[in-house]
Amino acid sequence: MAKSFQMLIDGDWVDGAGSERLDSYNPFDQSVWATIPQATEDDVARAITAAHTAFRGVWRKTSGRDRASMMLRLADLVEENADALAQADSTDNGKVIRETGAQMRFAARNYRHFAGYADKLTGETIPLDNLDMFDFTLVEPLGVAILITAWNSPLPLLANKLAPALAAGNTVVIKPSEHASASTLEFGRLIEQAGFPPGVVNIVTGDGRIGPALTTHPKVRKISFTGGLSTATKIIQSAAARVIPVTTELGGKSPNIIFEDADIEAAVTGAVAGVFGASGQTCIAGSRLLVQRQIYDEVCRRIVEKVEAIRLGNPLDTETEMGPVANSQQFDKILGMIRDAEADGATIATGGRAGDGPGLEQGYFVRPTVLVDVSPDLAIAREEVFGPVLCVIPFDTEEEALEIANDSDYGLASGIWTNDLRRAHRMARDIEAGVVWVNTYRASYVGAPFGGTKLSGHGRERSWHALLEYTQPKNVMIDLSGAARDPFSMKL
Ligand code: NAP
Repeated sequence: MAKSFQMLIDGDWVDGAGSERLDSYNPFDQSVWATIPQATEDDVARAITAAHTAFRGVWRKTSGRDRASMMLRLADLVEENADALAQADSTDNGKVIRETGAQMRFAARNYRHFAGYADKLTGETIPLDNLDMFDFTLVEPLGVAILITAWNSPLPLLANKLAPALAAGNTVVIKPSEHASASTLEFGRLIEQAGFPPGVVNIVTGDGRIGPALTTHPKVRKISFTGGLSTATKIIQSAAARVIPVTTELGGKSPNIIFEDADIEAAVTGAVAGVFGASGQTCIAGSRLLVQRQIYDEVCRRIVEKVEAIRLGNPLDTETEMGPVANSQQFDKILGMIRDAEADGATIATGGRAGDGPGLEQGYFVRPTVLVDVSPDLAIAREEVFGPVLCVIPFDTEEEALEIANDSDYGLASGIWTNDLRRAHRMARDIEAGVVWVNTYRASYVGAPFGGTKLSGHGRERSWHALLEYTQPKNVMIDLSGAARDPFSMKL
């Protein structure tokens, strides 16, 4: 029997004004394991109005210390319920439980980290040239924020947005992906238990049809979006009409670069973690592996060896290393891109086909795929696959590696494997990416800013930089002199 979820609007759990519901499929066996409401425009408007009322009322009157207490309680609750939340995500999107479990701990840390800021958002006093002027700033929230997340990591992506938004005193309407809404709706129960007043956090579900109602509403003051480029451009266009600021966390084609002086075993393991962790369905996937010519054959051999040993299986089994990809569209898209790459001349060293074998028959499994001797010009080396596909590209010099790495529309993450300190610093300085990992890859910490450049997006999540996305300074200037002024001359 499929679980039936409701939405959270103004503190009430509701089915929505319409009768339409969407099925949530388990990508391991294609069963419908849950259903979620398809919100209507009225539902969205009600959620935004509730958030606006809470923002102008109860939330504005809540001190930073009280916001922090609720967020700390929420962090504890996420940890206490981590297994159930992880299970919901693994069932919804096929990510292995090892990964989703760690992601829940990451989400909890996020709420704890930003709780620390909630009562410390201080402004500044500013000494002006005119000593009779007293000037100071207030750090204020923006208002109602719309938080839109992708299906690959619903709760950690949400924590990146919700934690700074709440710490700064905003209220929110959350829209998870139709493909993976269950964990966010279960998380809504924890919001209630943590004591957040009704209307501060609202959750609406449904597919992209409700997008315009969310992004054009006159009471919305901020949108934070994680997803693909084509949706981002639509959202930015619709937000433009009301000059609503938009944070965008988008895709990537991230270079992971191994120099001949690197610790090869560590680098090869990092390369595998970079693109086959989470079945490659991460924005930061190190999907372009650049390897210096002297060690190219050895690295390819060791990677293929490791990749062929990856255990595919039920994502809920703790022994499984790679689950299915999230849905049938992903499955078809990934296999189609591999076929096209082969037709374009890429050589498949391993994988390149659907996963088969006992227990995998009903799932959307794609064998981890390594393409070698890939020309950087091929579509497969330039476009995001968002699946378990690695392109290995040889290079000769540091300059050439940098040229290939930066010759991309994207600029999200990057990896550099070298034991040459000077080279590590030169590369970190010159590479066009929001994140540079040296001798590691796919390491996530709440205290370190995260975000992209170029088509990978605009704005930062995590760290104090994220607070800048949800606050604005208000300048207050007080004339202490009491003197009359010349009305026709600018006051200096
Ligand atoms: P997507 O199709 O762009 O969807 C993202 C979210 O936008 C979903 O909740 C989607 O709802 C919603 N949406 C769709 N149309 C909308 C509209 N017109 N207005 C408002 N919202 C709308 O992306 P995806 O396929 O879910 O995610 C994969 C992409 O996300 C990849 O490119 C990946 O790299 C990127 N990503 C980036 C990061 C990062 O931090 N940089 C992290 C994770 C993923 P429905 O799903 O219900 O249509």
